[in-house]
Amino acid sequence: EEAKSLNFIEHIIEEDLRAGFSKEKLRFRFPPEPNGYLHIGHASSICLNFGLGLKYQAPVNLRFDDTNPAKEEQEYVDAIKRDVSWLGFKWENECYASDYFQQLYEWALMLIKEGKAYVDSQSSVEIANQKGTPTRAGEESPYRNRSLEENLQLFESMKAGAFPEGSHVLRAKIDMASSNMLMRDPILYRILHKHHHRTANDWCIYPMYDWAHGESDYIEQISHSLCTLEFAMHRELYDWFLDQLVDSSLVRPKQREFARRNLSHTVVSKRKLLQLVQENHVKGWDDPRMSTISGMRRRGYPPMAIRNFADTIGIAKRDNLIDVSLLEFCVREELNKTAPRVMAVLDPVKVVITNYPEGKEEWLDAENNPEEENLTYRKVPFSRELYIEREDFQEEANRKFFRLKLGGEVRLKNAYIIKAESVVKDAEGVITEIHCTYDKESKSGSGTEASLRKVKGTLHWVSTSHAKEVEVRLYDRLFTVAEPDRQENDFLSYVNPDSLSVISAFVEPSLLSAKEGDQFQFQRMGYFCVDKDSTNDKLVFNKTVGLRDTWAK
Ligand code: ATP
Ligand code: MG
Ligand code: MG
Repeated sequence: EEAKSLNFIEHIIEEDLRAGFSKEKLRFRFPPEPNGYLHIGHASSICLNFGLGLKYQAPVNLRFDDTNPAKEEQEYVDAIKRDVSWLGFKWENECYASDYFQQLYEWALMLIKEGKAYVDSQSSVEIANQKGTPTRAGEESPYRNRSLEENLQLFESMKAGAFPEGSHVLRAKIDMASSNMLMRDPILYRILHKHHHRTANDWCIYPMYDWAHGESDYIEQISHSLCTLEFAMHRELYDWFLDQLVDSSLVRPKQREFARRNLSHTVVSKRKLLQLVQENHVKGWDDPRMSTISGMRRRGYPPMAIRNFADTIGIAKRDNLIDVSLLEFCVREELNKTAPRVMAVLDPVKVVITNYPEGKEEWLDAENNPEEENLTYRKVPFSRELYIEREDFQEEANRKFFRLKLGGEVRLKNAYIIKAESVVKDAEGVITEIHCTYDKESKSGSGTEASLRKVKGTLHWVSTSHAKEVEVRLYDRLFTVAEPDRQENDFLSYVNPDSLSVISAFVEPSLLSAKEGDQFQFQRMGYFCVDKDSTNDKLVFNKTVGLRDTWAK
């Protein structure tokens, strides 16, 4: 296998190994906040961290960053575990920042005792007003020089629930003149009288992200803590906190940043995805139009397609936009290998083969997938009355129209050559039947001279009396512009009103046994999968992706 060139994170790791860091101590984590469902951007981070785990045979933890009880829920924890597993990755430990609340509290007490943290009793507005600007130093809080005893007593009372929300915070005492605004006495704890999905009402002070994240990494002995670029400025604080704690015999985690991945024609932000759900622009987090992993799964995207996409785009040092057609390319490539071919007619018009005996039926052999190493076949019924796609017929057409036209011939896939002789129309002039004749010597695979006869077009079809009616959901992009969150107006004003259309279609009877999640290529029409809304009476299909790129249209 061709050696892939290293990405910049792998270069950092290789350099650490060369400098003597032991390979056995490599350890990674994927740290989602359980405040929503994972999306395609998270898939990049998952593939990066778990990919490093596979490459270096190192453990990877799944860490829930659950420090904000107002927004986090068990439903999201469950969905995140399902999605990471579905992508095919196995975590070493299932961890929660909330498991470290007691340890974090004890370390906070230690900081207070060392004079490195203090209780500030100002309002959040007052604190914000003293922050200064990047070019002007901030002002020190009047509470900055409280005695150790007072700080300890107040912090313990905060923990004991003696105070209302917003009355006090614990701050690190660092430097109100730092050029890095995040170093200007950052908040470590705030009071929140909120129920937490795991610790219930045990705590009413909750650690801030910066105080919890690096310390969680340290507790878990994560060697390389990879996060997105918006945390680059946080690295100094991450390191300052570790400086206060780190025992030199233990691994000191290293934060390194990579660029967020954005996908065109969608949004990748849990907050915005939640808004789409709550305001009913879509029907839930797993709506097949969503950029969530659960939406893509329901749409029929195979996990390997998502992993190949993440590997293809790799990681970058600068934020950038990836065209969704690249993801669709990966989906198509994967499904081409795995999806059985079947016939389905989405916009039917009836064909009557006038020289085929009434009441007769034949079960013809149809290849399941030409990509299979050992070809397999199924039987499809043929009879006098069939459906073909309405767009596959024109009464008159030029020489480049290789489908059916009056006086012209086409081959019906796996079946016979037919010739269109006449049409029947209704009062409005809409064609209701195409009358054809067939060449009965031309059956595919029969070996006769007529079966080998070359005609330009091959059409898919279903036998009307054997076909099953199903619901098909066709999707278009969810947004009408490539970057909905970079426009003048709110992203919601660019939601595509025609992103879903529901039609009724006819499929060959072999599909009757199809189960939720099963995937097929409807020949000439695209890839489709069975939706969870299917019932015993009616199958529902989602269109996963077309057979070729139609973005240009
Ligand atoms: P969101 O804005 O969607 O909530 P987030 O970064 O707040 O995103 P987290 O749950 O904190 O979401 O993310 C878990 C991990 O996934 C983090 O390390 C984060 O940096 C990474 N991540 C999130 N979004 C992207 C993205 N678009 N591209 C790459 N990595 C991402
Ligand atoms: Mg986050
Ligand atoms: Mg977030």
